[in-house]
Amino acid sequence: MAAIGSLVFCTDCGNLLDSNTGHQKAVLTCTICGASNKDTSSKVVTTHSKPSAFPSALRAKRSEVQTLAAEDMQTEVVVNQTCEKCGREKVRYYEQQLRSADEGSTIFYICDCGHRWNTNN
Ligand SMILES: [Zn+2]
Ligand SMILES: [Zn+2]
Repeated sequence: MAAIGSLVFCTDCGNLLDSNTGHQKAVLTCTICGASNKDTSSKVVTTHSKPSAFPSALRAKRSEVQTLAAEDMQTEVVVNQTCEKCGREKVRYYEQQLRSADEGSTIFYICDCGHRWNTNN
């Protein structure tokens, strides 16, 4: 008697069958009424461990959120910085986390003249 938590009952009389064969196609014979019952215990386990269709909608939603967050990090903002190439005092910049969070982030400056540079935060 090894199978715990995967009980199989006789479909005819409801008797608890010895379902520890571990084989999906095994046929269990009821000791009370003699009816043949399929060992559904292993089938039940397979169903529960399989990723069902239900959480896939959730997964899709989560990756959607991650995509939006990544786009947010790329948002360019105009700041008062002087471009050393053309002397413009307003350039666009965006911040990007390049490595691990504790190493700070890098700020990229992009001037309309095409000059770009970056600085570590
Ligand atoms: Zn039975
Ligand atoms: Zn410039």
